[in-house]
Amino acid sequence: MRIDVVTIFPEYLAPLRTALLGKAIERGLLDIAVHDLRDWTYDVHRAVDDSPYGGGPGMVMKPQVWGEALDAVCPSDARLIVPTPAGRPFTQRMAHEFAAERSLVFACGRYEGIDQRVIADAERRMRVDEVSIGDYVLVGGEVAVLTMVEAVARLLPGVLGNPVSAEQDSFSDGLLEGPSYTRPEVWRELPVPDVLRSGNHAAVDRWRRDRALERTYRRRPDLLAALPTDTLDKHDRAV
Ligand code: SAM
Repeated sequence: MRIDVVTIFPEYLAPLRTALLGKAIERGLLDIAVHDLRDWTYDVHRAVDDSPYGGGPGMVMKPQVWGEALDAVCPSDARLIVPTPAGRPFTQRMAHEFAAERSLVFACGRYEGIDQRVIADAERRMRVDEVSIGDYVLVGGEVAVLTMVEAVARLLPGVLGNPVSAEQDSFSDGLLEGPSYTRPEVWRELPVPDVLRSGNHAAVDRWRRDRALERTYRRRPDLLAALPTDTLDKHDRAV
């Protein structure tokens, strides 16, 4: 997969080359390029923003600069992702959808965001998603891009040491994952649940499913409500 990021702070994206993602790049599973939006400015101040039509506080990112940047960076099959608090919420399902693409281009906004005509213009020749990573407002799109790229990249074949981890993560079956434990058996007088040391795989699976159901019920009842009714068996409903 090829990922391009356009930003006025390229250094903000340095963590993309660290740890698991860095290894994926080294192994040729992922190709990431970060572009400085100011490379497409022509004035002496390298300005990327201007005051908003209609008045109001803050500045808006200029369409000419973004237009030229995206013309230069987006391949013909690109899917353009524009982080914005006003976008559709980013989910694990969306991460899977993005992971199936050949090319993703991320456009990092700053100030009050990007002139809306940049999105309208891009939509004339490519798929564009305006995406929010949560109901809060960040200073810029860079942290949102780090979040989305990490969620997408770990789903690419070969990136995770054990692909089963992604299959068993929270959200893959519509539920939150239950609690995890490792050695020692007792720590600060807190024991690991007996069933996990029983060697009885069926009992362990049932215990994990029950804890996942309980946790989801308590913390994210909206996820349980969204599950198709036929995904819960008789035992699930009793939990
Ligand atoms: N005026 C915008 C609004 O109220 O919708 C907020 C702009 S915000 C200060 C600047 C930039 O940060 C946005 O263009 C976007 O790139 C990024 N951003 C802020 N919060 C975000 C969120 N929850 N999800 C994704 N991107 C976000």
